[in-house]
Amino acid sequence: MSLKVVKFGGTSLADAEHFKQVASIIKADPSRRYVVASAPGKRISNDEKVTDMLYNCYNMIRRHEDITDYYKKIVDRYTSIIAGLGINFDITGELEYIKNAMMARSGRDFAASRGEYLNSLILAKYLGFDFIDAENVIFFKENSTFDEERTNLAMKEELAKHERAVIPGFYGSMPNGTIKTFSRGGSDVTGSIVARACCADLYENWTDVSGFMMADPRIIKNPLPISMITYKELRELSYNGATVLHEDSIFPVQKEGIAINIRNTNHPEDAGTMIVPFAQDYNSEHVITGIAGKKGFSVINIEKNHMGAEFGFAMRVFKCLDQYEIHTEHLASGIDLMSHIVPEAELNSKLDEFIPELHRVTDADNISVDTGLALVAVVGRGMKETKGTAARIFTAISNANVNVRMIDQGASELNIVIAVYESDYEKTIEAIYNEFVK
Ligand code: ASP
Repeated sequence: MSLKVVKFGGTSLADAEHFKQVASIIKADPSRRYVVASAPGKRISNDEKVTDMLYNCYNMIRRHEDITDYYKKIVDRYTSIIAGLGINFDITGELEYIKNAMMARSGRDFAASRGEYLNSLILAKYLGFDFIDAENVIFFKENSTFDEERTNLAMKEELAKHERAVIPGFYGSMPNGTIKTFSRGGSDVTGSIVARACCADLYENWTDVSGFMMADPRIIKNPLPISMITYKELRELSYNGATVLHEDSIFPVQKEGIAINIRNTNHPEDAGTMIVPFAQDYNSEHVITGIAGKKGFSVINIEKNHMGAEFGFAMRVFKCLDQYEIHTEHLASGIDLMSHIVPEAELNSKLDEFIPELHRVTDADNISVDTGLALVAVVGRGMKETKGTAARIFTAISNANVNVRMIDQGASELNIVIAVYESDYEKTIEAIYNEFVK
């Protein structure tokens, strides 16, 4: 029998009605044996996510404020789920314990993690599945980075003992036993870790959208969905992909070549997006798979005659960027010019110190900074095989009267990244989408 790991996000587990829908999805396919659960998300747009409420409690305690009334709202969220499901399950002891532990300063990550912990206890009870506490199977190292190999061994061993189980997402434990969480949205990562450990045939990630769209729906009205995308393409699209799936979720499943299927809990009939290791077998319908982008970049232009002949020049530039904690998002070069595209937010506050220091270490002839840029990434495995793609992209952009500031084509020919002024950002995406999709 095939084996699937299923992860349900916060909106999929926001209230009792959603719990029932989740249970019917799980029960519809007996191969859905391991379930990873998020904390209850928003029920309506102006609702509070339980994780946010737990962070708020933590902050209130630090400010010596009384959390009694606020904590009661969290208690109500869980008790109304239990009541709505009609199960006989008393978690008042757990809720009391958590409140006391938070007041005894058990840490920010402990507080945040309890949303997933409680939701998973309830879901396990409702489904009649075992409960595996993530703190015993997901480990972080002393330096707070994720300990993949230790986790994989422990998770494998534990899963083998359970035919069916629910595992809370988002957290694990530090070597000293304290709770540590992944970054926000990290239950996706937990799902991927579980899928890797049991060598699942598929990792289904159930959320509130039917997969990835070819472009941002705030810019393109009703963009087409992406039915199939490779891991690598998704990485290139991470500028907007991260809102659907946590960026780091690719890495554990990639080790075993397991596909991820993004599905919609509210529309289980939709096939969603398949994220696959390779796509030889899948022909893409369009030359491009998707368009992503982001505003808020600057370009640092460093000019120096014969810089290419100078050993260590690039190293000095990178060292200086490193020292000021500025990331190079993209890099382009000319014979006597090197241009680094960097996030504006990382550069702005350090500009006055950073530029003189860069001058000092490089002895550059000129350094200039151009701000207010946006990056647009056009991604597609089909681009490699198709002649004239770049010509079509740039003709479309130029017809839209957009001035291209910089171009970077990845060596894999999987993507072309174009820097434009922020005011041209939406226009650029529209022009490319209309050229390839409409
Ligand atoms: N509940 C956590 C968050 O809101 C983790 C998750 O949902 O994946 O970020």
